[in-house]
Amino acid sequence: MSVSDPLLYEKPEPGIARIWLNRPDARNAQDTQLLYALNDAFDRAVGDDEVKVIILAAKGPHFSAGHDLRETDPLAAQKLHHPVGGWISDDWVGAEGPYAREKEIYEGFCRRWRDLAKPTIASVHGKSVAGALMLIWPMDFVIASEDATFLDNTLYMGIPGVEYFAHVWELGIRKGKEFLLCGQPLSAAEALEAGMVNRVVPRAQLEEATLAFARTIADKPAFTLKLAKDSINAAFSAQGFDNVQRAAFNAHHLAHTHYRLTQQGSFVDRAFMERFATKRR
Ligand code: ZN
Repeated sequence: MSVSDPLLYEKPEPGIARIWLNRPDARNAQDTQLLYALNDAFDRAVGDDEVKVIILAAKGPHFSAGHDLRETDPLAAQKLHHPVGGWISDDWVGAEGPYAREKEIYEGFCRRWRDLAKPTIASVHGKSVAGALMLIWPMDFVIASEDATFLDNTLYMGIPGVEYFAHVWELGIRKGKEFLLCGQPLSAAEALEAGMVNRVVPRAQLEEATLAFARTIADKPAFTLKLAKDSINAAFSAQGFDNVQRAAFNAHHLAHTHYRLTQQGSFVDRAFMERFATKRR
């Protein structure tokens, strides 16, 4: 793979595939290309009979800055992946186009990745902001380094949470509300206490600690791992996750559409963001 590839794919040892987010200069911001490439990389690992467990890690100082808000023509980028049309709408003026785009590459990918047929581990360091949570939360396990912090700052943009609305399942009702409505960073230690991560390790040990964790999974039969994972994920459905996700995604798009109608096509509350930024200066 070339240096400019947004991802690196490798098999560091038998039974384990590792995918690296590889846009360190952009703090691993997720543009359309990266998200489709990540979806393909997950499929590659799931389709490889030698792979039992999949690690998602990141190059550079931070895990991910979230969605790449600098992407200039996201609809054109997405159409590259839908050359024969499909259900991606041309209606970018109304709600249908933006809704369809985020339904596929944000909510849709997250739900798909959560249910991948092989166990997955997020290996997280540095900052994980907003959309970064949508790469971490769908994974089955999270190993974080001591410097890791997690943040959903979407309310500062007038948006009621990231597109994958798993806050309650990750943190519980009380802490989930605090995380979302206060919009302050959660430390690795707090995330561990809340049950959002499995292990916290020193930064220098993150890579090896993640591999060691993966080895304790990779020594089981692949089919058994698949069945065990699916049985636990059935609990998400039984707890109403699917309905909550649908409702929250629609609320998210009500907010997007509101600002597009009232603020010259902006997807977020730019007026509030600017006032808030001024106040903080
Ligand atoms: Zn959105």
